[in-house]
Amino acid sequence: MSTIKQLPKSVANQIAAGEVIQRPSSIVKELIENSIDAKARNIKVIIQDAGKQSITVVDDGVGMSQEDSRKCFMRHSTSKLNKAEDLFKIKTMGFRGEALASVAAVAEIILRTKTNKEKIGHELKLKDSNLVEQNQINTQVGTTIIAKNLFFSIPARRNFLKSNNVELRHIIDEFIRCALSHCEINFTLTNEKSEIYNLKSSNLTKRILSIFKKSYEKQLISCDEKFGAISVSGFIGKPENSKKTRGEQFIFVNNRFIKNSYLNHAIIKSYEGLIEEKKYPFYILFIKINTDLVDVNIHPTKTEVKFEDERLIYSLINSSVKKSLEKFNVSPSINFDADINFAEKVVTQYDKIGKINNDVLSHSNKKRNWEEIFENVKIENSARELFENQNLTENENKPVQFLDTFIFKQLGNKLLIFNHNNCQQRILYEKYEKNSLNSYANTQQNLFPQYVEFSSSDFEIIKEILDEIRSIGFSIEIFGKNSIVINGIPTGLDDINEKEIIESFIEEIKKNNVDLKSEKKDIILKSFSKKARITNSKNLSLEEMNSIIDRLFACKNTKYSPDGKQNYIELGIEKVEKLF
Ligand code: ADP
Ligand code: MG
Repeated sequence: MSTIKQLPKSVANQIAAGEVIQRPSSIVKELIENSIDAKARNIKVIIQDAGKQSITVVDDGVGMSQEDSRKCFMRHSTSKLNKAEDLFKIKTMGFRGEALASVAAVAEIILRTKTNKEKIGHELKLKDSNLVEQNQINTQVGTTIIAKNLFFSIPARRNFLKSNNVELRHIIDEFIRCALSHCEINFTLTNEKSEIYNLKSSNLTKRILSIFKKSYEKQLISCDEKFGAISVSGFIGKPENSKKTRGEQFIFVNNRFIKNSYLNHAIIKSYEGLIEEKKYPFYILFIKINTDLVDVNIHPTKTEVKFEDERLIYSLINSSVKKSLEKFNVSPSINFDADINFAEKVVTQYDKIGKINNDVLSHSNKKRNWEEIFENVKIENSARELFENQNLTENENKPVQFLDTFIFKQLGNKLLIFNHNNCQQRILYEKYEKNSLNSYANTQQNLFPQYVEFSSSDFEIIKEILDEIRSIGFSIEIFGKNSIVINGIPTGLDDINEKEIIESFIEEIKKNNVDLKSEKKDIILKSFSKKARITNSKNLSLEEMNSIIDRLFACKNTKYSPDGKQNYIELGIEKVEKLF
């Protein structure tokens, strides 16, 4: 006897709907996307009971004929796709022809629609995926869909829904994603009769400001790069405005919001060293790419896509964001309060003593070679010169070491407290990064070559990162099976244990599991800057402390260590007074 039964249509529909419609916000997304595809100019979303009681989406798009208004609820029925090849030419938000069928499987539906070709409109009512009523009605061109009593026939699903606050948050998120990617459309969102958003058709900047806050204007940095057929555009936020919580990060591919942790990483990575650990920058980036280079059909909710060459997209995003940060002078940001522009002072001082010329002052000049400027100047002069204009006495000028880790320094009526280790890491990172870019790595030959043997698997890693290790100044050769010989080490360091450092590279590479060359180099530079030392931190001399401070402020990024830890904090007089 056969035990296999074909499931009734209503059950099959509910199973399939589970993939598309997870919660009320999924319905909001699908209905808005349909209105966008129908070329609506105005889209209104009205929510009751966080969508659980009803979701209404009203549009003034092309509407549907009587025949289409019946067909649209059938699974796999769409006007957006004809044949398999079309899947790689998708320009619409929808294409799978399953959203309305899924909505009808989990909610009661009222559809009202009219095209401009017909005098009369059509109203359909559905329950449990079945048409229960059909009328002709007078209505405007466009479509209204009301989804009522969500999950009415699936109590288990209904019970899974979260509180109204949480569900409403999800709805707002979906609404914002659609509104950001279609600025030309007027959108409203109303919840329980109160209007949450009323967004007028505008450009991206205005839309961002009307969705978020007006104050965001100051933090937006535009990003606009073209790489052949692929473009990356939009806005990123200034590093100092990054937040501890996520939620203001958006990537769109051909105007479709996507979730992609790999590409998010590409952006976060560009901010590295500019923001603290565990803080997230604001970004809204639009990637435009030929439709045949991206597969949008890998998930029912269509928020995941697959690129033909994801690593290429990663690099493009990473470099566009970096470029924008540099272009807008955000990196490096030397940002004491406006009254004391430290950088200007540094430059002016050195200008006075005739070591540098005017083009160092040019602001666009991010590649200014600060380090050389500093290295050309006698270190013992520099700190004193820097603070001279502050009219401080000799004593006030002196930095003071506190324990092994901290250096205190007065600057005007501020007290700066430097974390010596973090500062050293930043200085080393940038110095050796620069060396490696210039392809001259200063190497100091070892008197006695060091031989180091590795396990076979670690030796494979060494081979992979040999170029990067050499680029920072190690002179290394492969020496027989699974061993290397270290003939020289980078110059300008306090005692280093080269074997330990190289082993730390292997550990970090294993831990981080990266495959891009630039990322490997970054990991190596970071690990190197942690292990190597410019000075031993016990009993720093005045010159050493001044040198650390000078060299830190000659860095591109003065604020944070390569790991995103603060290099120094400022205590204004008010803060200190409050302590008493
Ligand atoms: P898809 O969007 O993937 O085509 P849907 O189930 O979301 O599938 O919609 C099915 C079809 O119904 C669409 O292809 C479209 O022709 C029609 N349709 C849905 N919503 C609207 C609307 N708001 N205005 C006009 N036509 C619509
Ligand atoms: Mg659709």
